[in-house]
Amino acid sequence: MKKQVVVVGAGPGGSTAAFYLAKAGVDVLLIDRETWPRDKVCGDSYLPSLYPMFEDMGIMEEMKAAAACNPKSLRIIDPDEEYAEFDLQPWLIVPRRIGDDIIRRGALTSGADFMENFQAEELIIRRGVVRGIRGIHNNRDVEVEADAVVIADGSHSALARQLGIYKEDPEYILYAGRAYYDGVEGMEDGRFEEFYTPSNLPKPTYSPICLTWVAPLYQGKIASVGITIAEKYLRETGMTLEGLFQWWCENTKFGRERMHNARPIEKLKGWRLPGSRKIERNYVPGAVVIGDAVSSAEAAFEYGIPSAMIGGKVAASFLPEVLSSGDFSEKKFSEFQTLVGDELNPGLEYNANFRDNILANKETMKQFQNWAKGQPGYPHLVYDDSVVKFTTQVLNKEIVKSDKKITQ
Ligand SMILES: Cc1cc2nc3c(=O)[nH]c(=O)nc-3n(C[C@H](O)[C@H](O)[C@H](O)COP(=O)(O)OP(=O)(O)OC[C@H]3O[C@@H](n4cnc5c(N)ncnc54)[C@H](O)[C@@H]3O)c2cc1C
Repeated sequence: MKKQVVVVGAGPGGSTAAFYLAKAGVDVLLIDRETWPRDKVCGDSYLPSLYPMFEDMGIMEEMKAAAACNPKSLRIIDPDEEYAEFDLQPWLIVPRRIGDDIIRRGALTSGADFMENFQAEELIIRRGVVRGIRGIHNNRDVEVEADAVVIADGSHSALARQLGIYKEDPEYILYAGRAYYDGVEGMEDGRFEEFYTPSNLPKPTYSPICLTWVAPLYQGKIASVGITIAEKYLRETGMTLEGLFQWWCENTKFGRERMHNARPIEKLKGWRLPGSRKIERNYVPGAVVIGDAVSSAEAAFEYGIPSAMIGGKVAASFLPEVLSSGDFSEKKFSEFQTLVGDELNPGLEYNANFRDNILANKETMKQFQNWAKGQPGYPHLVYDDSVVKFTTQVLNKEIVKSDKKITQ
């Protein structure tokens, strides 16, 4: 089989690349090893920064209709279980099994071909240039020749490893899990709750990202409950992810309040998500790497889908130019790192700054909350604006709010 471009992985990143490539007139094949629709353990949040791409794909209305919740406020509960609330631009929580499939089907409307149950095993490399993939489709060996490959096979990417460009930053490795429950108490429709590491952990640690979240789905009929902690802090607790979650349910005021009558519909499942503060090498001649395959998620703030989709869109504007120029040099492909970096680095940096300046420890977090509570208009302060204002005015540090940042 011969195609101009093969995209490996039909998650949000790969499907977006396939959509825009086909729209640009490229003959593209999108493959995925799973049978679709496939599920993914996730907080299921699709942020407003994605809406322009949903509009392009003609799936905005379908995504809205599929939403299990439109959170519009955020409650941040600090380690002493005191809280502050903020307004947010409403976003969509759509179970990934449904949301990712809408995106994948959106990709096909622009003319991309799709094959499921197709596991890419290795890249075909000729004279230092990637020229397709070998894999197994429905138990048969298949080879697809291509002028270029988009690698979007998700975290721990086997293909990026084959290329020797897979990298992990120990500072940004997250363990995260999610469960669906019914019988969760004390939720409010449209309110997303983030609970930070409680002060009373048996082996104290403080992780500058929320430890657990609770979000009401389907008008509070069920809840999405999750846990997120960086690998290094999880080690400090001496607990497993499941053990830590269970401890939170039983030993914190809010955990007990929310969970004492709760019954799991789907038990906690988790995975290890490498993220980063900056886009690292994401190319070799003939191939570009996007999304979790290049650890482009901002591991603390659920921006994995935007990072992956923006990477896919950039890949689709870059590759047609390569195909028409026939320039498959190292130098040409190195432009891809700059192009994706220009889009994603300001947002990654902003989030990292937010974490380093405000969420870094209990004291600055409390300072932020107390400041917010004293502002005119509280609790209807816009979260992002408050972060910027507090950092510049109170901490005297500059935190850049870039137009390109991937927060809301
Ligand atoms: C618990 C948890 C909660 C999260 N919550 C959020 C959230 O609320 N919002 C958010 O934006 N992000 C969230 N994330 C991050 C988000 O899930 C990822 O960043 C996002 O899925 C990245 O998209 P992707 O397209 O790069 O990869 P994926 O979505 O992982 O897609 C990769 C695809 O490649 C396929 N594949 C893999 N290997 C092969 C192969 N060899 N051949 C063919 N196909 C292959 C897989 O089947 C898969 O469909 C969360 C992560 C965790 C762990």
